[in-house]
Amino acid sequence: MAKDGEGATNPPQGKCCGVVQEAAAKGTERRNKRREKAQPWIVLKLTIGLTLGIIGYASYVYIGRFCVPMIKRSKSILGGRRFGIPFLVIFCILLAMMLWSYAMIVIVSPGKARDHVEPSPEPPPRQNPVPDWWDSSSDLGHGPGQFEYRGATEGAQSNGSTTLESHAPPSEKPGRQRDDNVGDASAIPAVQQARVRNEINANGHGETSGLPAGLTRRPPMNPALLPEWRYCYKDGFVKPPRAHHCRACGTCILKYDHHCPWIGQCVGARNHKFFVVFLEWAAVFCMWTFATLVAGAVQEGRDGDLDAQYIVIIALSGLFILFTLTLLATHVRLIILNTSTVESLNKQYMTEREKALLARQFSWHQFGAKRRVRKQWDRDWGNPYTEGNLWWLGSYRENWESVMGHSKWGWFLPIGRSPQDGVNWTPNPRFHSDGRPRPRSQWPAELR
Ligand SMILES: [Zn+2]
Ligand SMILES: [Zn+2]
Repeated sequence: MAKDGEGATNPPQGKCCGVVQEAAAKGTERRNKRREKAQPWIVLKLTIGLTLGIIGYASYVYIGRFCVPMIKRSKSILGGRRFGIPFLVIFCILLAMMLWSYAMIVIVSPGKARDHVEPSPEPPPRQNPVPDWWDSSSDLGHGPGQFEYRGATEGAQSNGSTTLESHAPPSEKPGRQRDDNVGDASAIPAVQQARVRNEINANGHGETSGLPAGLTRRPPMNPALLPEWRYCYKDGFVKPPRAHHCRACGTCILKYDHHCPWIGQCVGARNHKFFVVFLEWAAVFCMWTFATLVAGAVQEGRDGDLDAQYIVIIALSGLFILFTLTLLATHVRLIILNTSTVESLNKQYMTEREKALLARQFSWHQFGAKRRVRKQWDRDWGNPYTEGNLWWLGSYRENWESVMGHSKWGWFLPIGRSPQDGVNWTPNPRFHSDGRPRPRSQWPAELR
C-alpha cells in the first residue's frame, strides 16, 4: 500500500528498476521543491554589495587617481586644476544622484499581492464545460499558455468530469498559469508546438480579414481576467490582474515585470518608476566617467604615463553604458505601451509567428504585399501594441504618466510615486470581459 514517493526501502514490485525510478522521482521532487523555495535574504541582497563595490572602486579611481592628481598638478592631465575641480564636482553630483536613485529602487517594494488579497480556495471550474468565450474555430491554440477544453482534445478521461486546463508544463498542476515560466519557451508542450506549426493551414479567426485561409492574425487569447487564470497555487489566492509569482522572492508581485538581481528584488508596480530613474542616472554617470577618462587616458598615453586602472574603469563604464541604455530604451517602450516584460512575451510570440507566416507566403522582396497583409490584420484586430493591448489607456502620454507620475520632476528624480496602485487596473474596452481580444467588428461602436 506504499504511496507514490514513500518508502525507499519498499520499491514498487521489488524490482531494481523501481528503485532507480523512485530515486529519480525523489530527486526531481527535491529539485522542484528547492526551485520553488524563495532565495534566502542574504543571497537575494548579495549583489547589492557587489554593485556598491563596483561603484566604490570606480569612484576611487576617478577621484583618487584622476581628479586629485589634476588638482594637485602632480600630473599634467588635461590642463590641471582648471579641469580637475569641475570634473570632480560633476562626478560627485552624478554619483550622488545615482546612489540616491539606487537607494530608492533597493528600498521601495514592488508591491506584494499578499498584502492586498485574502487567501482563497481554488475557483471551481466553470459550470458550462464549453465556456462562452470558446470559439470552435480556434481549436488549434493560439500561443503559449492558452486555455483548452480538454474533453474536446486529448481527453480528460480519468473521472469523466470536464475541466479547463491551461497548457502548463506536464509536471505542473492542472489549471496553473505559466507565469513562473516567464520567458521559457520550452514550457510549451510538444503537442502545442506541433499545433502551432500546423495552424498556418487552419481557419483561425479569419472571420473578417478577406485574406486567404490561414493567412490570419492570431492574437494571444489568454483569458487573463478570469479568476481561474489568476489563481496562484503557491500562495493560494486569486492574484490581482498583472501580478505574477516570482520564484526568487517566493511571492506574487504586483504588475510583475522581472526579478532584477542588481537590486536584489523584483521590478513591479510600485518601483518601476524608480527603476527607470535609476537607469537614467546610471547611464549619465557611466557616460560622463567614460568620456572624461578616455580623454585623460589618451593624453596620459601620449605622455607615456598611462594608469592601467583607467583602462579597467573605461572598460567597465563602456559595458554599463550599453547595458543601461538598452534597458532604459526597453523600459521606456514598455511603459509608453503600458505593458511589462512578461506581458510582451505573448506579443513577441505572435509577431514571430506572423513573420514566419509571411516569409512562407511571399518572397523576401515582396515588401508591399507583406505590408498590405499586416495592414489588413491591423484593420481586423487593431494595432497589436495599442488597440490590441489589454492595458492600453488611450495614449502614450497617459500610459507613461500612469507609471512615472504627472510631475515632470518625478520623471528624472527618484521622488513621488506612481499614480496607479498596482491592484486595480482598467482593461481596454476593446477586449472581452475575461481579457481576450475582440476583433474590430465587435468593438464598441465609438472605438471602431
Ligand atoms: Zn504567488
Ligand atoms: Zn523577485
